Amino acid sequence: MPKNPRKRTADDDGSDTKDLMSNKTPKLPVETALDKKNTQALQSRIKKANDDRAARDAEWAALHPAGGPPPPAGSRGDGTFRLTHLRMGAGDCTIMCTPEGRVVLVDCGTNDSEQAPADFAAMAADVLESKEYLLNYPRIDVVILTHPDKDHYNQLAQLLPQTAIPRTVYHSDERKEYAKGGWLNRVEGYDDLCRRVELSADQAEREISEKKGKSRVTKKVKTAIGYTRLAGGTIPSSGTPEEEKLDGDGGGLVVLYEKGACKITILAGMVQYDYEDDKDDGTNRASLVTLVEVYDKSFLLLGDATRSTERYLVNQRAAKIKNVDYTTAGHHGSNRTSTGQFFVDAVDPVRQATVSAGKKGLDAHRLPSWQVIDRYQIRLNASGRGKYPKHTVSAWPDAGDVVEKQVEEGVFTTGCSTKGVQIIVPPATPRPGL
Ligand SMILES: [Zn+2]
Repeated sequence: MPKNPRKRTADDDGSDTKDLMSNKTPKLPVETALDKKNTQALQSRIKKANDDRAARDAEWAALHPAGGPPPPAGSRGDGTFRLTHLRMGAGDCTIMCTPEGRVVLVDCGTNDSEQAPADFAAMAADVLESKEYLLNYPRIDVVILTHPDKDHYNQLAQLLPQTAIPRTVYHSDERKEYAKGGWLNRVEGYDDLCRRVELSADQAEREISEKKGKSRVTKKVKTAIGYTRLAGGTIPSSGTPEEEKLDGDGGGLVVLYEKGACKITILAGMVQYDYEDDKDDGTNRASLVTLVEVYDKSFLLLGDATRSTERYLVNQRAAKIKNVDYTTAGHHGSNRTSTGQFFVDAVDPVRQATVSAGKKGLDAHRLPSWQVIDRYQIRLNASGRGKYPKHTVSAWPDAGDVVEKQVEEGVFTTGCSTKGVQIIVPPATPRPGL
């Protein structure tokens, strides 16, 4: 959502320095005892985190014995891939269940005011707690928090069952930036659960003007602007266990892999260079961008990525994003910040583009923009792909009130139906390399 730039602060450890600032000089034995107590508390917290994680993994393994009977058709882990872009109004939440029954959540927040909070919560819970997702076992394997704007995480505490603790949380920016939602406090101390992802290794050509004598000379320089980092350390390269390693191209972070069925890769995160004058304070531009490859289909999830993030993807990940079957449109269909024509041409989706936005969108935000809807509609029309039964899409023109139109291309908003936009991929021959 558009918002005022906010102060970005460096990491701090939250420690209180009052005692150190007081006039009293603490006696050495007191300090030592305090240090020991803190160390013991930290060690016991880490032990509890590790024990909890091992217990969850053991419980999962017991429920899913190798070679055991497959779950009943239509429930979690039955070999079918399911994804729902929930109807979150002015917000974003995608939940998916892999063929082997692992659940992945990408964002969970809203600024909605179109519907009563109770109705909204019941509607979202209806999907989240269904047998296809969380009902038969409230374990979430991977949570991806694209960026710390409230409309992407503030419903985590309200909508997820108390018992649902993720195996790993990937996020951009600093973890404390997500604290307003309360949910990450539940896993506070579980430091091994949370991974801050920074994937923006790139070199940008920048024009620099220099004055030499009386003439001004413009030259292009290469500027290293990024890095590839995971939670402060380097990301393991191939040869390490399947989870959390760089993909074959060395540019993306594989966070989930089921051989021959499903691979989930974070393609970008913490892009900082403003390639496209995207009118962003950097938070949206830094969104984690996720590619899901499942059997013969693929999905691109953009969070609130801006045109600069899009330019990074086109520069660095063109082959990965080209002809994905399903894509989202970044930043709730904003034409001001996102979905440049160059990006739509580069992605050229095969089937569908989905915008996370309310049925009519909020007056204040005027999202999605008809220009964005048109861009995907024209592209899908030209390719002759992505034909669907006629459905109604609401979006905002440059001027005037919201407009509803019937379209038959694969362009949807999550406000189109009560349950949002649901996509099912039945078992099929995997794409090469999966
Ligand atoms: Zn947003």
